[in-house]
Amino acid sequence: MLFDPRPKVKREDLFDRERELEDLYKNIDKPIIVLTGIRRIGKTSLLLVFLNEIDIPSIILDLRGLKPNYGLRDLYRLLAKAFSKKLDKFRDILERIRAITIAGVEIEIKWKGREAISLSTLFDYLNYKRTIIAFDEAQKLRGSRSKMILEAIAHAYDYDENLTFIFTGSEVGLLYQFLGVDNPKSPLYGRYMHTISIERFKHDESIEFLKRGFNELGIKPPQKIIEEAVDLFNGIPGWLTFFGNSYAGGIRDVNKIKEYAIRIALNELENLVKERGSRRYAIVLKAIALGYNTWGKIKRYVEEVEGKIISNSILSNILNTLENLSIIKNYEFLDPIYKEASKRLKIRP
Ligand code: ADP
Ligand code: MG
Repeated sequence: MLFDPRPKVKREDLFDRERELEDLYKNIDKPIIVLTGIRRIGKTSLLLVFLNEIDIPSIILDLRGLKPNYGLRDLYRLLAKAFSKKLDKFRDILERIRAITIAGVEIEIKWKGREAISLSTLFDYLNYKRTIIAFDEAQKLRGSRSKMILEAIAHAYDYDENLTFIFTGSEVGLLYQFLGVDNPKSPLYGRYMHTISIERFKHDESIEFLKRGFNELGIKPPQKIIEEAVDLFNGIPGWLTFFGNSYAGGIRDVNKIKEYAIRIALNELENLVKERGSRRYAIVLKAIALGYNTWGKIKRYVEEVEGKIISNSILSNILNTLENLSIIKNYEFLDPIYKEASKRLKIRP
């Protein structure tokens, strides 16, 4: 079902993306593949559909919940969870590893102490047969553990030719910072990575997506409503799905659905501001949402709101971070719903 709000797992539920799937098939022999695109563009869906289809065993680490100060234990917990889901595929290998116990349908990994297994050793075991290891939202791996992880991946890149790593990331700048391809100090510096960037649906594709989705459910909304929704959500599949699902669920008012979407986005933005620990993020987001689209205009706005002269370096830091998070580019929002939500950010003194 096209309007199922969960990430898609079957090609028949995935709209288009033929080119991207083809690209994955063609390049799956490469050691590293990077899948980028803004939030809700369909990275996880593409990944899951591909991994379900291809005849190579894989594990997926869902890193969304990883805290910024995560430790080794958190990482190993996600590994254990990922393997537990694929026990049938990996039992033969896992049984040989001393640090791993198979307890019914779950596995336990020793992460600390004498019998613990390092990430590189684990990769060497997995290399026994062709395996794909996917990190979904890999920028979350940034932090004090990142060097160790990247070293293990660099080791696998050089020695474990049966392994392919796939990294996805919504916060594209942060993802590249983590991978450190351009950073001489990074273990992965200069390594080749095959990149696939997932783009939004074009206008006609969005229309087609909604029509097909409604058709599956036997609903035929007026053309005007379809056009309105397509204009509103600017080709972002996640929002179009949200719209289709809400409309089919009985909310027949585009503005009401828009309102719900904005609330979801607002909540995400408030979390972002909280995580960054500075209300200036909120002020800058609001400035851009209100149409201040040059460095000078944004600076003036922030200074007006704060009643304080702010330093250039602090402002450029904030703007860079917002770009690295893939929220803005060239003083414009990448997601129109984020833009609307930013207008409502509360700026507490
Ligand atoms: P991301 O991982 O990039 O944030 P998801 O794969 O979670 O995106 O997709 C977000 C939402 O959009 C989900 O509800 C998913 O079902 C839907 N979706 C994304 N891409 C497509 C697509 N090509 N066809 C159908 N639904 C899609
Ligand atoms: Mg995702």
